Amino acid sequence: VKFRGCIVLEFNKVIPNELQNKVNEIVEYLNSNVLVKGVKVREEAGKIIEFKVRDNKIVFYTEAGRQVRIHNAALRIKNYFLSNISPKYRLGIRGLRIENGIIELDGQYTVSLKLPFIKSIEVKEGRTIILLEDISESEIKKPYIDRLLKLLHEKELRTKWGGKAEHWELLRQSKIKFKEPKFTEDPNKILEEIGWIKRFSVGQWFYTPPFTYLLNMLKYFFIEEVVKPLGFQEAMFPKMYPLEVGLKTGHLKGTINSMIFASFPRSYDISIYEELIDYMYVTDTAPPEELQKYVKPPTHFLCFAQCEPFYQFFSKEVLDDKNLPIKMYDHSGPSFRWEAGGLHGVERVIEFHRVEVVWLGKPEQVVEIRNQLLERYEYFMDKVLDLEWRWAWVTPWYYEQAGIVEEEKRELDINQPGTIDFEAWLPYRGPREDKKNWLEIGNISIHGTKFTEPFKIKHNKGETLWTGCSGFGTERWTITFLAQHGFNPENWPEKPRKYIEENPFPIPVRGVTYPKTEKGRKLLEEIIRYFKK
Ligand code: ATP
Ligand code: ZN
Ligand code: MG
Repeated sequence: VKFRGCIVLEFNKVIPNELQNKVNEIVEYLNSNVLVKGVKVREEAGKIIEFKVRDNKIVFYTEAGRQVRIHNAALRIKNYFLSNISPKYRLGIRGLRIENGIIELDGQYTVSLKLPFIKSIEVKEGRTIILLEDISESEIKKPYIDRLLKLLHEKELRTKWGGKAEHWELLRQSKIKFKEPKFTEDPNKILEEIGWIKRFSVGQWFYTPPFTYLLNMLKYFFIEEVVKPLGFQEAMFPKMYPLEVGLKTGHLKGTINSMIFASFPRSYDISIYEELIDYMYVTDTAPPEELQKYVKPPTHFLCFAQCEPFYQFFSKEVLDDKNLPIKMYDHSGPSFRWEAGGLHGVERVIEFHRVEVVWLGKPEQVVEIRNQLLERYEYFMDKVLDLEWRWAWVTPWYYEQAGIVEEEKRELDINQPGTIDFEAWLPYRGPREDKKNWLEIGNISIHGTKFTEPFKIKHNKGETLWTGCSGFGTERWTITFLAQHGFNPENWPEKPRKYIEENPFPIPVRGVTYPKTEKGRKLLEEIIRYFKK
């Protein structure tokens, strides 16, 4: 981002000759001191290129960088005059403005003309040039310009890094556990065929008791073997969040395309709905366009990352050493994602279930907890579920921390903010050598201050607080388990086999028309026989 513009300083009277002769010197001083103060990289500072004295005004034609932005430069110039020049020449300062501001970006961008201050946008020779309206002193002091510049800078960085493939760096992987896969079918298909799951609506399924049993088994092991031994305590988080929460977590800005929104009714008075009710009564249809007239615009979104309420809970609270770190987990309800065309079985759905583990503490505590969790995860994947897995560092070259996009250092250090994805091989998809045959089943993140800052979660002695979270997608782990070990418990690892022995397996739903196909009914009886053994 480059910013140019005229900083206009207006005085209460015509500039005396004495001062006019000095402006050159003052500008030099401003350029070598005031406008570079605290800046490491010269181009990120402000620089006055030219100036003009006109009656009671001095116009500084200025270029500014990312650290001393044009409005910072304007305020620094004004303050310098206020304390060093005004008293000497008995000049009062009447106004400060930025005129003919131009922002120049490398690359082509679309920027909304609805944004404050934007007059027009041109794209020329691969550069985007944004012309700004005049900016008054009171506007200079508001955070809009800062945010506008930050937004543009992020767009620029994203384009720079976004062209490259998503960041993925292998951290660790399990041994090859199956010379020949035990099982090569798609568990999603089998589950549907034997009637353990039934399509409910787009991306939603009804889980009958046998599949629920399996989901609960995986969840049980995760909670008992990973979460509880590390001292996490169960809480119940709400599953619908006000928009303002999504603004603070950044999800509204980053993933709005996959969020599902909720609207409240316009009125509680049922008589208001009479026309619509009558229409539905007679036509036996529920027309969404009509319904839309009776509901308010969306004010909430459905559980997306699942840890959002944790940050909201601690928002504006002050914590002390005695009570840190705080560790919770929640599995009280589903998460919702609009996945457009990417749905597959229960692996990628709109309504899914997850155990969300979240913690808050000082940076070293947050890192340590993440490391303890990694250790338990490894034990869980190897010793409890005996899976073929791998972990990858997936934090891209820029990392968004509290809204600031920073270029990441090249050297990989995992004890810093960032995300590790857990992936598992799905033999039904094909050979393990091909990346597309692996599924992300969970992840673990250190957020740094990404949430503690916007939610204003504070420490009583002003120390920095970080958070971390880890999501255990129950459907994905269950599918992975079945994809690698199959439906015959005789081929399962010891702990799950024992679980089946100790917990009575539910009776599947059977009917004249269910499961649907002859093949499915046969397969069901075969699988049930395995479980009975
Ligand atoms: P993917 O890249 O596969 O879409 P994601 O990066 O969107 O995954 P996260 O946002 O990291 O996933 O969500 C955390 C966990 O929630 C995932 O590891 C996965 O277990 C689960 N999950 C996410 N989206 C879905 C979905 N649509 N269906 C089922 N489980 C999901
Ligand atoms: Zn989370
Ligand atoms: Mg996704």
